[in-house]
Amino acid sequence: MSQSSGSEPVTEPLTVADVLALLQAAAPPELAEDWDSNGLICGDPAEPVRTVLLAVDPLTAVVDEAIGRGVDMVITHHPLYLRGTDHVAATDPKGRCVHRLIRAGIALANAHTSLDAAHGGVADALAARVGLLGTRPLCPSPVDPAQGIGRIGELERPTRLRDLAADVAAALPDSAPGLLVGGDPDAAVKTVAVSGGAGDSLLAAAREVGADVFLTADLRHHPATDHLEGGRPHLLCGTHWATEWVGLPPLAARLEAAASERGRRLEAYVSEVVTDPWALRLSTGS
Ligand SMILES: [Zn+2]
Repeated sequence: MSQSSGSEPVTEPLTVADVLALLQAAAPPELAEDWDSNGLICGDPAEPVRTVLLAVDPLTAVVDEAIGRGVDMVITHHPLYLRGTDHVAATDPKGRCVHRLIRAGIALANAHTSLDAAHGGVADALAARVGLLGTRPLCPSPVDPAQGIGRIGELERPTRLRDLAADVAAALPDSAPGLLVGGDPDAAVKTVAVSGGAGDSLLAAAREVGADVFLTADLRHHPATDHLEGGRPHLLCGTHWATEWVGLPPLAARLEAAASERGRRLEAYVSEVVTDPWALRLSTGS
């Protein structure tokens, strides 16, 4: 028999447990908030994984995409059951997702606030999209103050809020709500705080560290108006999905590189499904 000269050497695939270990090396579970849920949601640790799909939300549309692509594993940012569950019956959408994944032989894991806080995670990715220099955590982790939720840093040169907003809008993936701007559009700005996802609880922290602008998502009327009454930082409010999705491409590259360092091959795809709840935005008035 001839040797398979010229073709790539066959390597053992990674397992679900191996990929989970790579994920947790990139997003250390000890960085997670104590109310959070991070880890393996369904799947057999011993099963092989050649391909993985990264997405923000473990929703039906992402399960459709995973099955359509034929991946072995899905890694989402958000947990499927943040507050636990007492059943996984296919009588509700989450239970149906679990059933469909298991039937298709697809594992599901997540890294949530661990990935928000980690070096190279969601906060760093968002800061990089804004072009921030000299970044440090907005809320340093008690476990490692060099990592933590949010980032604060400086723009290379001062700009106007409206120009920064245009740059940020162009740097984020698009979904219907877009980007909202709070504060004087012509204000000069240089120091910017960022935090992907819901940032209401970080308004005071962003003010305390002296940010001119705070980029986050999910800001409600009263917290935002009360905050703006008190002055800076001005507000940029993106969508929860867009401000967290930016963490996925660097994670995909990191997982592939970590696999390759171990002499294994892993293909990591970033989901193309927009899981923002809002499908359409209309300007109001006549
Ligand atoms: Zn989130």
